[in-house]
Amino acid sequence: MSFNRTPSEAPSGRIAPLARLPLFFALEGKRAVVAGGSPAAAWKAELLSATGARVDVYAEKHSAEMSALALDPPRGSVVLHARKWTGADLHGAAIAIGAFEADEDAAVFSQAARAADVPVNVIDKPAFCDFNFGAIVNRSPLVVGISTDGAAPVFAQAIRGRIEAMLPQGFAAWAEAARTWRGRVKNLPAAARRKFWERFTNHAVAHPQSPPVEANFNGLLAGADGANQNPGGSVALVGAGPGDPDLLTLGAVRALQTADVILFDDLVSPDVLDFARREARKMLVGKTGFGPSCKQDDINALMVGLAKQGKRVVRLKGGDPLIFGRAAEELEACAAAGVPVRIVPGITSAQGAAAALNTPLTGRGHARRLQYITGHARDGALPEDIDWQSLADPSCTTAIYMPTRTLAALTERAIAAGLDPKTPAFAVSRATCHDQQVVRASAGTVADELTKAGLPGPVLVMLGHVFAEAAMADTAQEKNAALG
Ligand code: SAH
Repeated sequence: MSFNRTPSEAPSGRIAPLARLPLFFALEGKRAVVAGGSPAAAWKAELLSATGARVDVYAEKHSAEMSALALDPPRGSVVLHARKWTGADLHGAAIAIGAFEADEDAAVFSQAARAADVPVNVIDKPAFCDFNFGAIVNRSPLVVGISTDGAAPVFAQAIRGRIEAMLPQGFAAWAEAARTWRGRVKNLPAAARRKFWERFTNHAVAHPQSPPVEANFNGLLAGADGANQNPGGSVALVGAGPGDPDLLTLGAVRALQTADVILFDDLVSPDVLDFARREARKMLVGKTGFGPSCKQDDINALMVGLAKQGKRVVRLKGGDPLIFGRAAEELEACAAAGVPVRIVPGITSAQGAAAALNTPLTGRGHARRLQYITGHARDGALPEDIDWQSLADPSCTTAIYMPTRTLAALTERAIAAGLDPKTPAFAVSRATCHDQQVVRASAGTVADELTKAGLPGPVLVMLGHVFAEAAMADTAQEKNAALG
């Protein structure tokens, strides 16, 4: 007996038990049988037609959906027969689908199909099925099927939604291009071929919406033969939103899914990072994570350095990257280094806080203007160049970012400039996160109330007469609660 394994090689583990074997059935030009004319049967007939099957439908009565489908099938023909199915109809079919109310009818159909060696499914009757249909994400020729083995159809639909969001429509064209180009690269040496497909994949993932053209093929091929070693690194400044991952954009999710490295701030919630590609390196570059020396210059150097090594870098920032996010410096650093950079906007925390307060930030009769200001100059002190008059404007709503340290001085100066101290003010802590908290006050009291409440950060302060109604609504709620 001889061992042809080296001792250091890890044993290959067996696959875990598999509830279902996913198979992708080629039905183009083949005959499919549908027994039953209900709307549910029509949907299955439509699916079968979409694969290019020739569909024969047998039913004494066809629903309006089925009749409409026969007139306008997506691909393969759909022929309606106004009679009950017979055993002979199953002969030579590639697949059989039944729609029956009664188990006895389902059993007879299922037995007949099996006797004719035709794989069979009876809608919503798993006992009579050889296979079941998964939830589908269609980017043909790229197709994703999802099964929970019948355990949780609603869960499967939710997963389908997530995968839909992750796969841009443009992937269909890129998958089709792969099919066309496959033959043209098949004679390349293996290493160059692998390189071509790696470059193809990176390009398709980075530019899914720009349709593949001949110039892409030539470019990818030129890079694959080793002559052009541009590794193709890039930076994306991506908005993570205020905290709730539901508020990520599809663009942000896609960027996270394709990143090699993610440089993220303290503000970014762990729930958001869950959307990142598992293999991506995740580096906290906030004040707490990178040590006291985590200066903007260091972040810029790290970001540019990684991109120059060919990495797809996502610079993930709380809220929107272009609002109090030091984006200018990062954009400049990329431009100076010749690193391509793009921006994926996010929902800024003021929007999150407005939703928390259930209040429009602009409202006829209350606010004509909306302004975002920061309570924090570069040196951490109250910025000296704030337009105090604009803060005093009763028809303006103001969102104060980074308010905590300087709020007392800020409101004092604004009140001295004419701001009505009774102007409604709210401090919103961790807006949109599950531990969000709100403190209600007025311009004159908000600094003290915020100190007293000792809310965890980040905190945003919102100021303006638009919030009078937010205050009233809460009071009414509290009154109702008190009454009973
Ligand atoms: N680019 C971010 C702002 C960065 S400045 C955006 O668009 O939201 C950091 C400040 O944003 C914090 O001090 C705080 O005032 C505010 N902030 C960010 N996330 C917040 C949240 N979930 N709740 C309340 N304030 C938040």
